[in-house]
Amino acid sequence: MQKSLRGRVVDDDCLFCQIIAKKRDAETVYEDETIVAFKDRYPHAPVHLLIVPKKHIRSINDLAPEDKDTVAWMFMKAPEIARLMSVDRSGYKLLINVERGAGQVVFHLHLHLTGGWR
Ligand code: AMP
Ligand code: ZN
Repeated sequence: MQKSLRGRVVDDDCLFCQIIAKKRDAETVYEDETIVAFKDRYPHAPVHLLIVPKKHIRSINDLAPEDKDTVAWMFMKAPEIARLMSVDRSGYKLLINVERGAGQVVFHLHLHLTGGWR
């Protein structure tokens, strides 16, 4: 069920909201007021992080005008997060799956950051 927690939309049934609320474990590598970045549990690359807004947004299709700064921040912070994982210079990919047909399985917006290939 969706509710507002300290002015932020959260969904108790959502896996990523539970990670953000620290009700579930994740290997967090970066966190600020707006986003959290943690390691993907089933990585597809040597480095595979998920950059996740703290606000529960179902997918790119569900963005509201007030989410503009949040989405910009996810991308603005990606180079710094890549640098933390030492892949900023070697190279990395940023990917968002939108809806089931594209492979989205967790319906809380997230940006995949993959890298670390030889
Ligand atoms: P997507 O397919 O775009 O919805 O991406 C969801 C991602 O979440 C997948 O790459 C999963 O491997 C990852 N994932 C699922 N459960 C967890 C978890 N408990 N902690 C971290 N990552 C997870
Ligand atoms: Zn959520």
